[in-house]
Amino acid sequence: MSQYDVLVVGAGPAGSSTAFAAAKAGCSVLMVDKKKVLGQPVQCAEYVPRLLLSRCSISKNSIVQNIASMMTHLPNGEIIETRSPGFMLDRSIFDKELAENARDAGVEILSDTTCLARKGGKVMLKQGQINLDVEPSLVVGADGPVSTVGQWMGSVNKEFIIGLQYTLPLTEPQEHTEVFFQQEFFGGYGWLFPKGDVANVGIGVRLNPKDGNQKTLLNPHNTDQHSLRKKLDIFVKQLQDAGRVKNKPVSTTGGLIPVGGTLKSVKNDMLLVGDAAGHTDAITGGGIPQAVICGEMAGRIGARAVLKGDMGLLNEYEVEWKGFFGRSLENAVEKRVILESHWDELDEIIDKCWVAFRGYYGNRNF
Ligand SMILES: Cc1cc2nc3c(=O)[nH]c(=O)nc-3n(C[C@H](O)[C@H](O)[C@H](O)COP(=O)(O)OP(=O)(O)OC[C@H]3O[C@@H](n4cnc5c(N)ncnc54)[C@H](O)[C@@H]3O)c2cc1C
Repeated sequence: MSQYDVLVVGAGPAGSSTAFAAAKAGCSVLMVDKKKVLGQPVQCAEYVPRLLLSRCSISKNSIVQNIASMMTHLPNGEIIETRSPGFMLDRSIFDKELAENARDAGVEILSDTTCLARKGGKVMLKQGQINLDVEPSLVVGADGPVSTVGQWMGSVNKEFIIGLQYTLPLTEPQEHTEVFFQQEFFGGYGWLFPKGDVANVGIGVRLNPKDGNQKTLLNPHNTDQHSLRKKLDIFVKQLQDAGRVKNKPVSTTGGLIPVGGTLKSVKNDMLLVGDAAGHTDAITGGGIPQAVICGEMAGRIGARAVLKGDMGLLNEYEVEWKGFFGRSLENAVEKRVILESHWDELDEIIDKCWVAFRGYYGNRNF
């Protein structure tokens, strides 16, 4: 059985950032992902705010274009433009490069490897058809919205937006993202995010927790998927009729976005980070910056705890990410409660519940 200081489950932005920081701090690190090709398929609308640059470098290869502003379309037809500097990424390149950085720092990476279970100090993995056991000092769950490590810790996301997205040719390139609030998109919104001569066009709606098993929801035969696809087809037709996008989708993707707020992220010798920790913004659905930034914190603090042999130090991780993102993530959850309970009055309450408006921030300074 192989022994490691740190096992990172999941090689998305949270996992690779954690693994990189832990290896840099001197730990032996194994990172596993059930995907055969890291970073693919992409399940993301691929916008990141420029803020991310202050905490991590983004290579030119993964930036498709700059974004200057955001247009918010309200149900009453009003359109509001706000400054929103950022980038549209190619997530497959972004995720691959983060994983390569981790590998260059000494992280051992196994793709096509699923983390199955834990018995005592032993973690069971399956690579293809081969069973592997490893014995890590620290386990980091960076395994996305429906996290296996989170189940071991009793910290699981329970509330989700379900998103479905096409990539379609754009009629004209543009430097702004667009967000569409419509009654049909309960608890969520439609989006058009440009990527050069194509755009990611999608919708996200609130998933009723009673509607089914989250793991099967992304199955195209699922009834929720059917109704979502119908809504997306109508939305795309509206955009086509308005001359904004053309032709048929080049590709389709989707996924779950946790919107219930942050979870307890430290237990014994385990940490959660990124979507697994509910670090996603409950209003925008954005989670890439939190995954990368909290990943760095998890790797650095986790390594210190392991190398000093003091797992009590792991609590500093929760203190640090709460200090950085806690208030803004809490505010998003509060705003989601208002948004959903007043959905029929969307035009009246949206200026308190959407990030483009001053009222969203109240008197707080995040
Ligand atoms: C439709 C959609 C649009 C989005 N658009 C945006 C956006 O524009 N901007 C933004 O900032 N955020 C966006 N998000 C959210 C963003 O994608 C996530 O917040 C981000 O990917 C979180 O990174 P992560 O590393 O925590 O998780 P993930 O990227 O989900 O990575 C988790 C990894 O864990 C692996 N894994 C899971 N279980 C296991 C297991 N048992 N064993 C081994 N491996 C496992 C998975 O294969 C996966 O590679 C969007 C999400 C969706 C669904």
